[in-house]
Amino acid sequence: MANLILILGDQLTTDISALEGADPKRDRIVMAEVHEEASYTNHHKKKLVLLFSAMRHFGQQLEQDGWRVHYQHYHPDNEHQSLEAVVSTLLEDLSPDTIITTECGEWRLHNQINQWQERLGVPVDTRTDTRFIASKREFADWAEDRKQLRMEFFYREMRRKTGLLMTPDDKPEGGSWNFDADNRRKWSGKPPAPAPFRIEPDTITRDVIDLVDQHFPDHFGNTDDFHFAVTHGDAQEALNYFIEFTLPCFGDYQDAMSDTEDWLFHSILSPYINCGLLDPLAVCEAAARAWYAGLAPINAVEGFIRQILGWREFVRGIYWLHMPGYAKENRLGNTRSLPWFYWTGETKMRCMHKAIDATRRNAYAHHIQRLMVTGNFALLAGVKPEEICDWYLAVYADAYDWVELPNVLGMVMHADGGYLGSKPYAASGKYIQRMSDHCANCHYKVSKSTEPDACPFNSLYWHFIDRHRADFEGNPRMGMMYRNWEKQKPEKREALLKRANYLLEHLEEL
Ligand SMILES: Cc1cc2nc3c(=O)[nH]c(=O)nc-3n(C[C@H](O)[C@H](O)[C@H](O)COP(=O)(O)OP(=O)(O)OC[C@H]3O[C@@H](n4cnc5c(N)ncnc54)[C@H](O)[C@@H]3O)c2cc1C
Ligand code: SF4
Repeated sequence: MANLILILGDQLTTDISALEGADPKRDRIVMAEVHEEASYTNHHKKKLVLLFSAMRHFGQQLEQDGWRVHYQHYHPDNEHQSLEAVVSTLLEDLSPDTIITTECGEWRLHNQINQWQERLGVPVDTRTDTRFIASKREFADWAEDRKQLRMEFFYREMRRKTGLLMTPDDKPEGGSWNFDADNRRKWSGKPPAPAPFRIEPDTITRDVIDLVDQHFPDHFGNTDDFHFAVTHGDAQEALNYFIEFTLPCFGDYQDAMSDTEDWLFHSILSPYINCGLLDPLAVCEAAARAWYAGLAPINAVEGFIRQILGWREFVRGIYWLHMPGYAKENRLGNTRSLPWFYWTGETKMRCMHKAIDATRRNAYAHHIQRLMVTGNFALLAGVKPEEICDWYLAVYADAYDWVELPNVLGMVMHADGGYLGSKPYAASGKYIQRMSDHCANCHYKVSKSTEPDACPFNSLYWHFIDRHRADFEGNPRMGMMYRNWEKQKPEKREALLKRANYLLEHLEEL
């Protein structure tokens, strides 16, 4: 009785549920670099390098551990260009009793694999992904009968469930569930931001870099200076580095942006957590240990754990609760195309240029750049949700549909009608000025709103407020914005709308 065990590119751990109870002598593992998965979007070249190289290293590790692995290396002329084609050929060769897999992270593939049993005529055993702290069922039970889902309450449940940062009598450590109010400092160059953790490419990674450069030349970004970890050991080193050098300041500067530093005090662990090189719970436990040992303050540690235990689990729950319909939502009725400068970075808006340029070089931008710069601009400009979602899915090394879609469509674009966020994260240039030093180096003047050199975010912000009055006027968290808008003189309001309309007609020239 032999089984065929399918391990996907974001399931790179021996703890994956598909391997539970498996027998290395009898069962066969299949891993495949296939064209269909590598090219369903314009994936950043560094993301392709990271995943192919991490898959190859993991495949080797499995073989060293005694598993028999059928591994398909990428080639554009491969006979089998999809996972289904690879698996169906192996069925002919091996006649396994069952195909075993762990539920995958995106609806598109999940839907395909769900049809395999019927299409391929072999039982398919799809197992729960136990790397997540809340199962899909658990999240659905929590969400049932709630009118509004708020991350904060779900997060508290997860704290209680895991015991992370909880006292023995079930109270939050430090006397509060959330220390976010302490996490909004601007960064003025001190303390110095640590250099990002880096691993020099080994032979396998260098081969993959050549492959990606040769076969994916039109994909976004470049492979230059690739320094991500691609093995469990190196990803663990990246975690250790973060805990020792970066975590202590993570909280203070969590929302800061810099004109000169790409990474600031962020962990840069999402690419590893999302593909299986790091376990999310183990990452949270390492951060909690640092607090108990007095190595990092509570606002840093709680803030970091909340991102993983709270936001990461929450968005995944929302995704599976509402797919496939969620991807089609566009409640603000946006119709504008994504400006081309999202792909080139060529814009005079300094904040946008910096965020997109870092994204092109690094396949990374931190949360506030994604939310309050590139996301905010798309929201204010009324970009079609599917176009901005496609962009985010393509450009980041950590991007997978289950995490990208709720963050972009829900949190940034408010296209789900406020299901994920109680109010849109719309902001004028003032916010960007408060949290960064970009404005001092910008072609536009953040202090101006209506003149030809005025910061585009300013008038676009008021245009957004004005055009969505019917959507947001009744929202208690937006009332002040509408009162401020009404307080302005009619001539000022008219000038702001005129300037914004001009910008909307000339987006490509900004
Ligand atoms: C528009 C937009 C798109 C995003 N797309 C993705 C995506 O495709 N993939 C992705 O992993 N994250 C996404 N995020 C969330 C977040 O920006 C990234 O997880 C984070 O920037 C990764 O960098 P880091 O590891 O240095 O994070 P840190 O700032 O160090 O945070 C620690 C960890 O918390 C988790 N985390 C933080 N915020 C979120 C969040 N909102 N949702 C889920 N996990 C979170 C990540 O695992 C991250 O590694 C998106 C956020 C926004 C606003
Ligand atoms: S002035 Fe406006 S466009 Fe320029 S960096 Fe500041 S917020 Fe961005």
